[in-house]
Amino acid sequence: MIELEGLTKRYGEKVAVNNLTFAVRPGVVTGFLGPNGAGKSTTMRLLLGLDRPTAGDVRIDGRHYDRLRDPLTSIGALLEAKGMHGGRSAYHHLLWMAQSNGIPSRRVGEVLEAVGLSAVARKKAKGFSLGMSQRLGIAAALLGDPRILMFDEPVNGLDPEGIHWIRTLMKSLAAEGRTVFVSSHLMSEMALTADHLVVIGQGRLLADTSMADFIARNSRSYVRIRTPQRERLRDVLHDAGVTAVESGGGALEVDGAGAEQIGELASRHQVVLHELSPQQASLEEAFMRLTAESVEYHAHTGAPTSPAPPAGWGDGWRRG
Ligand code: ADP
Ligand code: MG
Repeated sequence: MIELEGLTKRYGEKVAVNNLTFAVRPGVVTGFLGPNGAGKSTTMRLLLGLDRPTAGDVRIDGRHYDRLRDPLTSIGALLEAKGMHGGRSAYHHLLWMAQSNGIPSRRVGEVLEAVGLSAVARKKAKGFSLGMSQRLGIAAALLGDPRILMFDEPVNGLDPEGIHWIRTLMKSLAAEGRTVFVSSHLMSEMALTADHLVVIGQGRLLADTSMADFIARNSRSYVRIRTPQRERLRDVLHDAGVTAVESGGGALEVDGAGAEQIGELASRHQVVLHELSPQQASLEEAFMRLTAESVEYHAHTGAPTSPAPPAGWGDGWRRG
């Protein structure tokens, strides 16, 4: 289990991680979601003792990282896929890690097999594609057979086959009862992978919820209507106790009434419809709404920043 309590990190004026309190539990994949610059990588670095918190605390099974007896057997992490010596082969990269951490060298062959790199084990890492580097980084994380695994944006730059592989791996690690903590800036990716979600924006906690709850709360369904008789239709709906609101491009949106009911009302009152379509708001939209609100919140607190979102925030989460 990973526990954060009031974890805070400032770089000068910039608050990268702002008073985060949450726990990451075993047996499920926990998605750590936020737009680029939200503070995910900083949180993960703090967790591994690679940076010091300005305030607060983060513990791994009750201890600080630097107090773990054999850290690689407690927590395995992939932070930077390219963070390895390019001149070393995959095999030797893992072998020195094993030997310097008291891990039997037979584990090297096992983890290379597990990530599908056996055939290129003797090749130098600098010739590896991003996907192969991600696999090698994951092999390193698995080396000590740790109960806790942490991956920072592991699917960035991967092809669909690689993404599918990582997703399956994370789920099977969680099914073995391990703690799996994985960051992403893509809601669509997390929706397919995570059982639990921790969402941050500008370093602050925005949501800590099960994926099922997030979906139930955010998958708003509504009906979109186009009609050349907008005011007439609104009156008809209003008389039936149904509220229609304007949406973009001259369309109307209705919550709380089905397409059948609206179609029958329109027919009875001879209102012409050009479109009557049930819609489902996507989780991406819900995620955008959630994180956009955190930007507005900052603007209203009178923080000495401009009300415009910081660079990279606006649609930053869309980028791969
Ligand atoms: P994420 O991983 O969610 O994209 P990061 O944790 O990398 O976000 O960054 C959070 C914020 O902290 C960003 O605004 C980033 O520019 C800033 N930041 C991260 N590391 C440093 C650092 N070493 N010095 C100054 N600012 C930093
Ligand atoms: Mg990051």
